[in-house]
Order: sequence, then structure tokens, then C-alpha cells
Amino acid sequence: MTTGTDSKILRKLEEQQKKEGSLSQLLEFYQKLLRIQTRVGKRIDVPNLSFTDDDINARAEQGKPLIGFNDLVLNWSLLRDVFVEVTAVFADYPELFGRLPKSLREPKSHPSLPKKVVKAWFEGAKLPSTIAVDDVNEYLLLEAIIQAALRPFLISHCKALLGFVKQEQWWRGYCPICGGNPDFAFLDKERGARWLLCSRCDAEWLFRRLECPYCGTQDQGVLAYFTDDEGLYRLYVCERCQHYLKAIDLRQAGGEVLLPLERFLTLDIDIQAHKNGYSPCAKAGGGEGMERQWGGNSTGKGRKLR
Ligand SMILES: [Zn+2]
Ligand SMILES: [Zn+2]
Repeated sequence: MTTGTDSKILRKLEEQQKKEGSLSQLLEFYQKLLRIQTRVGKRIDVPNLSFTDDDINARAEQGKPLIGFNDLVLNWSLLRDVFVEVTAVFADYPELFGRLPKSLREPKSHPSLPKKVVKAWFEGAKLPSTIAVDDVNEYLLLEAIIQAALRPFLISHCKALLGFVKQEQWWRGYCPICGGNPDFAFLDKERGARWLLCSRCDAEWLFRRLECPYCGTQDQGVLAYFTDDEGLYRLYVCERCQHYLKAIDLRQAGGEVLLPLERFLTLDIDIQAHKNGYSPCAKAGGGEGMERQWGGNSTGKGRKLR
């Protein structure tokens, strides 16, 4: 992740909006979300966390990410304001995400975000029923909203800490900073090495090309990938855990690639993965809801993967 990526994405979306008159619903939603996250990001001080070399080595050996929930530096009143704002953006797009959980859509009650809910989300545990949900979709949506609210805070941690990560030492399928799952990957320009992108804090880390980051298998009999005609995009699939990972090959990319935006530009690949029975392992940015919408509105222009 480079500094200013989100501002570049906003500029690019504005250019596209000008050129085409409007953005797709999904990109318009993403634009609104990113505007909030960028604005909030400017108000967050980069946390002053530091690690010794021994610390880093020990953590890498134990597979322990740099921050646990108790290490997070959070401005709770700002986070709760962001949660309210982000909830309102999700509420504007029921076609994309379905209905908000009742406890978040009651006009009179102000949605609040208890600490224990954030802790459970951060640690990948089941969310406590403090914010009531009626079904699986509402539950997934609640997770997506929490993730969107936390994003600027986690990104500020990533900015402060990514320099401490020894890339040739980590090699795990989860983020060395926050422990989140990857939801995108890229092959670098220099060597074609594979890097994973954290679905929560946008950290990038080096990972083996022939291993599933989700179940850890290196059995080549169950791993495969598909590519588009240009060889620009890849869809990695694993028969063992049935998860998939989207990737872009930067050796084939012409201009500058803005990785967080690529998540949203490649939903046709998600659709193909879903159709073939694979599911994402990271709950980034809306997941199931977006797939439904795109499946329903398929224009046939999508990349064909082979
Ligand atoms: Zn992370
Ligand atoms: Zn797997």
C-alpha cells in the first residue's frame, strides 16, 4: 500500500464519473465509503508503536501478528461517529446489500458500536448479539459495516507498522499486522513473486505462489488457477477448502494499478468463482450482496477465464 492510494482512487472514480456521466451503483457506493474513510484517515494520528528486532523475530516464528485487539489505538468516539456514517451509506444501497439489521435501521435509535462487538470482529470470533440480526445476510452485512468503519484506523496502524515486517520471514496466509485474511493478490513486476493484500488493513505481504493461503495446502493436485485472455488477472482456486483468491499480474499491467480499487473492478471474476462453487474466505466490502447484484445484472462484458 502506498501513501495516497485512496486519494488516487477517488480522483480516478471522479474522472470516470465525468467521462461516463455516472458510475455503476457499486462504484458509487464505494466512492461514498472511500470519501468518508479518507476524510477520517486524515484525523487519525499514526499510532506510536515500536518493536525490537527480537520481538519481530519471535512473533514471526510464532505466527503472531504485530497487533492484537488490546494493542489497537482507537479513538472510540470518532470510530462510533464513523460507524453511524458508514451505516447510513450501506442503508442507501439495499439492492446491493439487502436490508440492514433491525437494530441499525430503527429511525429513532442511534446505531452504536459496543467495544465487545469490535473485539469479537477483530479476533474473527462470532459477534455477540448486542446488535441483533435476523439472518445470515444481516450478520454478514453487520460484519461488512464494522470492517468499513474500522478500515481507516487499521490502515493507520498498517502505515505505522508495515516497515517492521520482515517479508522474507513471515510466509503466513494471514496478515502480519492485523491477522486479517487476504482478499486479493498480485504478482510483482520484478520477479513475479506473489503478494497478498489484507482485506482489513491493506497490508501487503510475500507469500508462496504454490500454496493456498486459506487452508495451507501445498498439494499441487488440488491447487489451480485460471487467467483471462490478456494474462492480466488470475483466479486461484483450492479444491481442498473450496476458497478462491483473485490476483493481478503486474508484469502484464500497463499503467499504475490501484490495488484496493481492483477488488471492485473484478467482480465478474467473483461471479465466475461463485458459479464454479468456490467461496471467498475474507469478508471484505460486502461479499455476498455484491455478488448477487452483479450476477443479476451481468452485461456479458466480463472477462472469460480459462
Ligand atoms: Zn491486516
Ligand atoms: Zn485451500
